[in-house]
Amino acid sequence: MSEHERSAVFVVAAAIAYLLPSLVALGRRQCSRDAVFVINLVLGWTVIGYLFVLAWALTGEAAPRRRDLLATAASLKTCPRCAEDVKAAAHMCRYCGHEF
Ligand SMILES: [Zn+2]
Repeated sequence: MSEHERSAVFVVAAAIAYLLPSLVALGRRQCSRDAVFVINLVLGWTVIGYLFVLAWALTGEAAPRRRDLLATAASLKTCPRCAEDVKAAAHMCRYCGHEF
C-alpha cells in the first residue's frame, strides 16, 4: 500500500469516526437525527460536543416505523358523526356515543 493510499484510508476512517454519532442516529431511525447531524458536524470537533451528540444519538427516541403507523391507521375507523378516530372493532364512538 502506497503512502497516498494509506492517507486516503486514514481520511475515510477519520470521517467515519467523526460522523459516528450521526450514523448511529441514522441507524436507529432516531427522531432528531437531522439535529444530531448538524450538531455533530458543527461541535463534533470538541470532545464535549462529540460525547454529547453521541449520547443523544444512542438514547434519543426512535421514529415509529412506517408499518407500525400503517397498522395503527388500519385498526382505526372515523366516526361519521364527530369525525374522531376510534378503534375499528368499536360498536360505539367513545367521543360522541354514536353507534355503528
Ligand atoms: Zn363520534
